[in-house]
Amino acid sequence: MIIAIDGPAGSGKTTVAKLLSKRLNISYLDTGATYRVLTLAALENNLNLKDEGALEDLAKKLDLKIEDEKVYLNSTDVSSKIRAPLIDKNISVVVSHERVRVQMVGLQRRIAQGSDFVVEGRDITTVVFPNAQKKFYLDAAFPIRVKRRFRELKERGLAVNFDELKEDLKRRDDADKNREVGPLRISKDAIYIDTTALTLEGVIEAILRHIKK
Ligand code: C5P
Repeated sequence: MIIAIDGPAGSGKTTVAKLLSKRLNISYLDTGATYRVLTLAALENNLNLKDEGALEDLAKKLDLKIEDEKVYLNSTDVSSKIRAPLIDKNISVVVSHERVRVQMVGLQRRIAQGSDFVVEGRDITTVVFPNAQKKFYLDAAFPIRVKRRFRELKERGLAVNFDELKEDLKRRDDADKNREVGPLRISKDAIYIDTTALTLEGVIEAILRHIKK
């Protein structure tokens, strides 16, 4: 069974998907992390991020591994590095290329297909797993999403400027919603959950209620 979750940055997807997968005792895939690793690899290789062909080649040979909630690039643990503001600043152009997304969607399907998975991202309910048995769209008011993301980065020990983060989140929201391939959309058959006033436990309960239906 695939449980697909989409939503904008700071909507609580990652925390919710992780906890949900633990409760259900199934696996979990954060597809944002796969795009973050690709962006890190592109920066480390000094690639021109606008060069679709170069990024497609990089995506084809990307040595990415996700194990025990840790993310590895070429066998090095990059779990913290991929969350840095530098990645947030550069990722939108990387994920906008059609041929790059084709490669990454293929990779994501290979990881999750055939087993029980909670998969979260922006185009999971619409492109990656359009036939997922359960689909959810998590959302929250913009100021709440900014606060959550700020807290997450601080907890990771990263130096963040609140105003810069706010601007960056707005820019990523716009880019995610308006790109031509794999944009963030509310799938017609997804359950919409506004997490603004809900606790983490409240969101999990709402999702579990729908899954058990
Ligand atoms: O979810 P997260 O914020 O870590 O994702 C990082 C970036 O990767 C997002 O801003 C979005 O542009 C991109 N992304 C995407 N498609 C996905 C998951 C993430 O384009 N399925």
